[in-house]
Amino acid sequence: MFESLSERLESAFKQLKGEGRISEINVASTVKEIRRALVDADVNYKIAKDLTDKIREKALGEKVLTAISPGQLMVKITKDELAELMGGTEAELELKANPTVILIAGLQGSGKTTFSGKLANFLKTKKNKKPLLVAADIYRPAAIDQLKVLGEQIGVEVYSEPENKNAVQIAENAIKQAKANGNTVVIIDTAGRLAVDEVMMAEVANVKAAVKPNEILFVVDSMTGQDAVNTAKTFNDRLDFSGVVLTKLDGDTRGGAALTIRYTVDKPIKFVSMGEKLDTLDVFYPERMAQRILGMGDITTLVERAQAQFNEEQAKKLEKKIRQNQFDFDDFREQLQQIKKMGNLKDLMAMIPGVGKAIKDLDISDDAFKGIEAIISSMTPAERSNPDLIDGSRRKRIAKGAGKDIQDVNQFMKQFEQMRQMMKSMNKLGGKGMRGMPMR
Ligand code: GDP
Repeated sequence: MFESLSERLESAFKQLKGEGRISEINVASTVKEIRRALVDADVNYKIAKDLTDKIREKALGEKVLTAISPGQLMVKITKDELAELMGGTEAELELKANPTVILIAGLQGSGKTTFSGKLANFLKTKKNKKPLLVAADIYRPAAIDQLKVLGEQIGVEVYSEPENKNAVQIAENAIKQAKANGNTVVIIDTAGRLAVDEVMMAEVANVKAAVKPNEILFVVDSMTGQDAVNTAKTFNDRLDFSGVVLTKLDGDTRGGAALTIRYTVDKPIKFVSMGEKLDTLDVFYPERMAQRILGMGDITTLVERAQAQFNEEQAKKLEKKIRQNQFDFDDFREQLQQIKKMGNLKDLMAMIPGVGKAIKDLDISDDAFKGIEAIISSMTPAERSNPDLIDGSRRKRIAKGAGKDIQDVNQFMKQFEQMRQMMKSMNKLGGKGMRGMPMR
């Protein structure tokens, strides 16, 4: 995400490395570099200029503290300004009404239907809601099926009327059903077209007038850059939506849309969507996004993703096994599966400060664990729970079963053994530490 922008900004700040203090001259050239980087990331020139003027003003007005270098100071000021440009603080969904009606609008292919599924899952699992998904796309029968498939995956009901060609009626009927069945949120996935056209706009506007939604979320593909910003403007002029959803941030996005939509339409970005996994919807936090853009990582989101996947009971069980030196292959495989559920591996690693840049050219796919999983799966249950059983001939058999070389199995076994040794020595240390503690 935003790799080239991050790199360019970093090299802009490098100019200040080694400089003892902030001066007109060194600030001017850094600011110019930042502006160029923003424009190349598809940020409109006027916005880039306004932003960098502010950065320069702040930098020159700042008393340089001895504890912080001019480079660090510029990074901090830039981070604050980028966060401000993206809205400053996060904007929550309005969920008080019962049922809350959320209308989803956007161009075809922007990721509306996928997002509708993610949102339903988010509201169900994180907000304790009982959502109803509504297929109101009357032009593409496939859209109804797509929503049904998503609904099934996340265990959320889907309302559709395949024969009805009136989107307003479908939406109204769906809300009636939601009231009767006790659904607390109704998510209406409307039809999109490939480009903005009057019929589509009129239809969404009619649905809006009829059902008076509590939220209208405009979904836009962030990879389309300035086009995304222009489309947002057209939709907002007509629909006066309440929030923006940026999709496909996992792709080769330059960053322009994320940075400037808020400024252009004066509506908050509420969610960002990365990838097609249904449980990886992130609330949009301007500050965290600014940190990521500046290559500062995003530990908070990483921890939240982890907390969402690991439950306390599992964590306790695992801790006990580690403490008793009983960590085995089954535990290891379970851990791998949990990590995979947290999202795309490369995305996750990029949330660790400084790591994004280092791994940007590496091919880290979700298949990275497949070899290891295959090896573990070829073990017998007894071998999995007692790693010490595995001798040379068993290793050969395991390699064959997993379709791997014996070297792969040996290497994995060695790493696993090292890990177990490390856990053991940590346990010893922990024990000593506790004994060494003063008794009362
Ligand atoms: P709709 O026509 O607006 O309903 O769009 P869809 O939800 O059908 O999405 C269009 C395509 O984009 C599909 O192939 C989705 O799998 C894909 N897609 C949706 N959201 C994302 C995302 O966040 N990242 C990526 N990489 N692909 C996405």
